[in-house]
Amino acid sequence: MRAIVIRDAVAHVEELEESILDDAPVTVDVTHSSLNYKDGLAVTGKPGVVRTSPLIAGIDLVGTVRTSSDERFSPGQLVTLNGAGMSETRHGGYATMARVDPDLLVPVPEELGAERVAALGTAGYTAALAVLRLVMEGASPDDGPVLVTGATGGVGSVATMLLDSAGFDVHAVTGRPDELGDFLTDLGAVEVLPRADFEGRGKPLQKATYTGVVDAVGGEVLANAIARTVPGGTVAACGLAGSFALPATVMPFILRGVTLAGIDSVWAGAEDRTDAWRVLARGVDVDRLDAMTSRITLDDVVAAGEELLAGRRHGRTLVSVHG
Ligand code: NDP
Repeated sequence: MRAIVIRDAVAHVEELEESILDDAPVTVDVTHSSLNYKDGLAVTGKPGVVRTSPLIAGIDLVGTVRTSSDERFSPGQLVTLNGAGMSETRHGGYATMARVDPDLLVPVPEELGAERVAALGTAGYTAALAVLRLVMEGASPDDGPVLVTGATGGVGSVATMLLDSAGFDVHAVTGRPDELGDFLTDLGAVEVLPRADFEGRGKPLQKATYTGVVDAVGGEVLANAIARTVPGGTVAACGLAGSFALPATVMPFILRGVTLAGIDSVWAGAEDRTDAWRVLARGVDVDRLDAMTSRITLDDVVAAGEELLAGRRHGRTLVSVHG
């Protein structure tokens, strides 16, 4: 088998014996993976993701079941797995083969197919978890616009698409409004706002505008988004592309009843995963997804990961593991 292996924080494409794989009930012939922010951190040797060595990287996989000792899955079935410890403590999806635990494995929705499911990957599935959470907490298009931060990235771009198709007016925050403003309006954003509007220490309570927020950035951007959320609104905190800090006050929570909802895609349960993939199958405009997907091979992943962390990529990156 061929895989990207991280040894002592350095990533290389290697030919390997299958015996390196974890012992698990389902063996998958992997065809695709994707590139997420966390993959960028892992393959460029940044701390905080990979916790054992050697480890096959890749937090997503899509492929065909080769063998299964679990009755829920059978040979030939197309499946996907996101997170679940891959590229942290378990071997991941940047490989031609994987052995995985079936509990968090999800059948590939027929409406999307293998390549689009891989293109969406963890970022897309996280966006869906966030949108589901906003709706579950009562967000409705009648209550005002929603805000998406880090909007040109994976989580942000898919969240923009999903929220638009659910009927919301999406205001998209980006650090690249001149370069990528049209990209965001093509995805369905009705307003594109420069990130600078959300930077700096703002007042604890600002003009109540957004019924919901999907935040991929953290830090001051998240704090100001919380301060601009309407009474009873919900903020889904997904990421830390800007900062892991949260320089906020309790005022929006105690005076406006704002909910801060944390989104964890890695260990989300099977039911939430199935719901999220159902939302993606229904709500993703496949033409928009195809237009924002770029394709690379295993050999390109490290360089693409460096670009992603430097903020020089946008949309989604599909990794074809067979080249
Ligand atoms: P991407 O790199 O695709 O997107 C991140 C976006 O954030 C960029 O496109 C950019 O958008 C913005 N950004 C980048 N650098 C900065 C910066 N220094 N300050 C402010 N904004 C910045 O990453 P993903 O979409 O894959 O992931 C986004 C975040 O969500 C990451 O922190 C990731 O770890 C996290 N995440 C969390 C998950 C969970 O389970 N909670 C699952 C998946 C991701 P723009 O140029 O438009 O401003």
